[in-house]
Amino acid sequence: MYRAPRGMQDILPDDQPEWHYLLDRCADIAKRYGYRRIDTPIVESTDVFLRGVGETTDVVEKEMYTFLDKGENSLTLRPEFTAAICRAYLEHGMASWPQPVRLYSIGPLFRYDRPQAGRYRQFHQFNVEAIGEADPTVDAEVIDMAGLLYEELGIPRTSLLVNSIGDEACRPSYVAALRDYFARHLGDLCADCRGRLERNPLRLLDCKNSVCQRIGDDAPRSVDWLCDACASHFATLSRYLDRLGRPWQVDHRLVRGLDYYTRTVFEYQPHDVGGQSTIGGGGRYDGLIAQLGGRPTPGIGFATGLERILLNLKKAGFEAPPPARPVAYVVAIGEETAADAVALAATLRRRGIPTAGPVGGRGVKGQMRQANASGARYAVILGPDELAAGEAQLKPLQGGEPRMVPLWRIADALTADT
Ligand SMILES: [Zn+2]
Ligand SMILES: [Zn+2]
Repeated sequence: MYRAPRGMQDILPDDQPEWHYLLDRCADIAKRYGYRRIDTPIVESTDVFLRGVGETTDVVEKEMYTFLDKGENSLTLRPEFTAAICRAYLEHGMASWPQPVRLYSIGPLFRYDRPQAGRYRQFHQFNVEAIGEADPTVDAEVIDMAGLLYEELGIPRTSLLVNSIGDEACRPSYVAALRDYFARHLGDLCADCRGRLERNPLRLLDCKNSVCQRIGDDAPRSVDWLCDACASHFATLSRYLDRLGRPWQVDHRLVRGLDYYTRTVFEYQPHDVGGQSTIGGGGRYDGLIAQLGGRPTPGIGFATGLERILLNLKKAGFEAPPPARPVAYVVAIGEETAADAVALAATLRRRGIPTAGPVGGRGVKGQMRQANASGARYAVILGPDELAAGEAQLKPLQGGEPRMVPLWRIADALTADT
């Protein structure tokens, strides 16, 4: 027996209504904020993520699906959207479009991670990027869009956590202060953190080890190290967020896992945490486009895991809209009517009427059972007598009297009733 690869799952027909409900809500929100859809390939040159995401991140060090294709090119299944979308921004000269360029994506991503509740190796995200504008109005816009999405989906009680981690002017001195601080606690740190201290001390702030977390609580705070420009950006954003009326708080330990973030970082956390504490987040990446070979170009983005949203929706008692049912189920009586029944079903579908059946080689009883099980509103029954009269029997399956309808009028009769 074959099974789906570990950490990857099928989205079965019964799960599709919830799934598509979610995709539609995301696309609708994006449209309302003026974001246009972009789809990039599932794989990128590995360099895009090495340079974009950062070589010392967990994603790049441990979690990427990287392989050589038959031309010996190193490709990687995308572990996130942002670097790939910035690559597309550069490749297609979007710097000459009106800025910021507002883009969104929905699709699968891949990380070789330990599977757990709501976390998969193939997972899906709704992702937005606003590229080409440094002003904090755009930060507020993206943060607000994310909040509205959760609100409209009915995910109750999320906390909005925000931090500013500075830029290339002020971050080096902050990172140095952080390194000094953690070095003084070296003996108490977990092995991961001891290994990361030299290369990437920021990452120590989001270690999940409880001892590291306690040490991190008293670590230097990035907001105390911001240069004037970063401090003013953060003060302005704070004013906008207050004005939006959405409760928020500064979280000094919030740094996000990826190297490209600058200034604003944020996360939404559901209060009712089970295994996973963050439902979505993002931040500025003002240095990323330059890192990928473009002119210095600011940007900010947000991503939210769709599996995690579904998990939270189910906890909140969300029920998907009922699955689509066929309108008609065509039943053929006797083998000699089968060809006409097949043609009739095809005609109904061409007229836009969701139609199931006929299935040959079964008796009328068996076919009627299938028609009822399909949830169709009508059985369209075609036997030798009906065929000779140029008619079919239209039988309501949820109660009502059957009637005979000329074959050429069946589509109209069904349409009139849908
Ligand atoms: Zn640690
Ligand atoms: Zn700065």
